[in-house]
Amino acid sequence: MGLYRVEALVLRARPMGEADRVLTLFARGEGKLQAVARGSRRPRSRLMGATQPLCHGRYLLMSGRELDSVQQAELVDHGLRPLREDLRRMAAASVTAELVDALVEAREPSEALFRALEQTWTALAEAPPASLGPVVFWFCIHLMDRLGYAPVLDRCAACGRELGAAEAVRFSAREGGSLCASCAAERDAGAPLLKAEGRAALRHLRQHDVDAARRLILSPEGERQVRRALYHFIEYRLSAPSRAWQFWESLDELERAEMPAAAGPTVVSGAPSGPPAAEGSVEGHGGRAAQG
Ligand SMILES: [Zn+2]
Repeated sequence: MGLYRVEALVLRARPMGEADRVLTLFARGEGKLQAVARGSRRPRSRLMGATQPLCHGRYLLMSGRELDSVQQAELVDHGLRPLREDLRRMAAASVTAELVDALVEAREPSEALFRALEQTWTALAEAPPASLGPVVFWFCIHLMDRLGYAPVLDRCAACGRELGAAEAVRFSAREGGSLCASCAAERDAGAPLLKAEGRAALRHLRQHDVDAARRLILSPEGERQVRRALYHFIEYRLSAPSRAWQFWESLDELERAEMPAAAGPTVVSGAPSGPPAAEGSVEGHGGRAAQG
């Protein structure tokens, strides 16, 4: 009880009453928690700056019987502003915030997950627009790994057969990941299709840190496949569809529809220092996809 300090990422800020906000924080050392920021919606509130969604701040909290309350708040990372000002970056970051809010248990601290989310938000604030998707995918894969339901990528989740790099699979939430063609026909024929480019991307993202995601650019079709496959996999764990994900996807589809020129030939790796040495060779598959 009493006062305590946390460093936290603001997952959500819900208006309450006339001038308050209820924050959902993901705090280093504390995990996910809720706290009310009284008066924080008043224009001159000292709390206003660091009590908006997608902020990274330091908070002095007072424990309460029902809800803790924010006594002081200050921003830690001013570099996250683009997440609140650029719609595409905001939509992508909101997906990661909503997934943590929905899937992580309250008051279960995880330093690894805190750092993954912090790095993801920084990357989403800075990465080139074409890499926002891969950064979100990177976070999804690492979130699922941390939560203990990592999808099976390299072999068939049903029969265990090792899958060839060029093989297309069905990505089944029910079965726990990739399914070879014959198992898919028997068990989950309607699961999303994932071809070589998307499979290579997922392997690559799992094996590397977020910087690899910041340099990854997928073909429009590859990105769409990965997004559908991951969402299918994650939705299986959610009690309600992710509104943030649906918004993010619809925004992206809208942009592609408006700018057909942008959907031309693909650059799969924009790494300035040469392609990362991944056995999954995202570059190789992307090259083929670009010619096709
Ligand atoms: Zn199989």
